[in-house]
Amino acid sequence: MEKAARRFRMQELFIHDKLPHVGTTIFTRMSALAAQYKAINLGQGFPDFPMDEQLVELVCKAMRDGYNQYAHMNGLPALRESIAEKVAAGYKANINPDSEITVTPGGTYAIFTALTAIIQPGDEVILFEPAYDSYLPNIEINGGIAIPVALSYPSYEINWQEVKEKITTRTKAIIINSPHNPTGKVLQDVDIEALRNIVTGTGIFIISDEVYEHLIFDGQTHRSMLCYPDLLERSFVCFSFGKTYHCTGWKMGYCIAPAKLMGYFRKVHQFNCFTCNSPVQVALAEFLKHPDSYASLGVFLQGKRDYFLMLMKQTAFKPLPSSGSYFQLYSFEGMSESSEADYAEALTREAGVASIPVSAFYRDGTDHKVLRFCFAKKESTLAAAVERLKAYGI
Ligand code: GLN
Repeated sequence: MEKAARRFRMQELFIHDKLPHVGTTIFTRMSALAAQYKAINLGQGFPDFPMDEQLVELVCKAMRDGYNQYAHMNGLPALRESIAEKVAAGYKANINPDSEITVTPGGTYAIFTALTAIIQPGDEVILFEPAYDSYLPNIEINGGIAIPVALSYPSYEINWQEVKEKITTRTKAIIINSPHNPTGKVLQDVDIEALRNIVTGTGIFIISDEVYEHLIFDGQTHRSMLCYPDLLERSFVCFSFGKTYHCTGWKMGYCIAPAKLMGYFRKVHQFNCFTCNSPVQVALAEFLKHPDSYASLGVFLQGKRDYFLMLMKQTAFKPLPSSGSYFQLYSFEGMSESSEADYAEALTREAGVASIPVSAFYRDGTDHKVLRFCFAKKESTLAAAVERLKAYGI
């Protein structure tokens, strides 16, 4: 008896690490470093300009009007109606708001929930690297196996032949992301065709990260999975209000999937966050009815990208093409022998400008000497950042 008690006391608390290869996300680390060194933060992707005052007012009004208790688990019905109308107008998609839309606390949560709903231990999921850093841990925490396919450097095109070769009987899903974080690459018709050729007649799901749907430049169009009924039937399509309305801190988004798939998604969702913030949903339901609020977003952000590109010409950085998202990649080949991570840290500490090393988006840390800069900032912020880089002698 005494022995047993002693054994019990001596037992250590032990957690078997579900994510042994993962530390703290690069966004948190670089933002902390930026704060520590008072650097201008062009790392983590978030705007530093104000969001629409009218939307803020609508949230305040909703709170005062008493919308402060739980909304429906799947999302406020009025918001799901507005989303269905938005995607009908924008993508000619006929989506049932009751059974095919779920409002989520952000796009990342929607992706995690979709992967959790479909992955069984040992299932393989194909992702394209550089890949947004949540995909891989989302797969592995569910016992899945991530199968990375590297986008060809420096064009960042998808090598569909390689994708084909990596398909096995265990392939459960392919994660696509357009406009792409971090490269700003946008899927073209040939990509859609190649994807179609690969998945048709298989049991492969598509997880489509479309959070930058409206941040698209140079006359490009967004090829949403919602546009292709044959692809949509196997897709979980994930969106973000934070990116559309410049309010990333609201953590609001949604997922669209066919009813049968959505049923499994909701099984997971109901025991995780259960439901999202009510007053914000009331406000978004109304605000979403005005397409002008996002119709000009591409032009607005392209203006920022072009301004940043123009200023950065004064430095030795070499831009890689970006057709969408919040991000512009720059090569520092020939400027420093440091790794991306070391260089990004040195720039933060010594030049006072934070960025993101693209190696953080590769499982094996592939390093092409490329940094990601977020240009979703006030012009004065971008100008001050470039001045600091110049003063540092770049
Ligand atoms: N999506 C944002 C980016 O890529 C960051 C999101 C986050 O910090 N988790 O920078």
